[in-house]
Amino acid sequence: MTYIITEPCVNVKDGACIDVCPVDCIYTTPDTNQMFIAPDECIDCAACEPVCPVAAIFAEDQTPANMKQYVPLNYDFFKGKDMNELKELTRAAPRKVNEAH
Ligand code: SF4
Ligand code: SF4
Repeated sequence: MTYIITEPCVNVKDGACIDVCPVDCIYTTPDTNQMFIAPDECIDCAACEPVCPVAAIFAEDQTPANMKQYVPLNYDFFKGKDMNELKELTRAAPRKVNEAH
């Protein structure tokens, strides 16, 4: 299984989840409007879920019905991507100031 990042992250992207993920499996690019979790790397530790200020993160099998479209979006984000390049892009991506705090 994996955890999934859903709609509330869009245009928030504050990176709180990245700071707590023990395996650094949360990625984005400067041109992407949300973060995504690499399904093959996520160890299902759940550390990211409670720190998200907008409650965007769910265990895959607990993703709410109205957010289900984010499951394939999350998987598709990684298709054909070079993970090393993605790590660099994630580091370079600006983190938005979270106004939901
Ligand atoms: S569940 Fe754990 S391993 Fe998976 S993305 Fe969240 S913090 Fe990272
Ligand atoms: S903590 Fe939540 S809002 Fe912030 S980047 Fe992660 S998923 Fe997006």
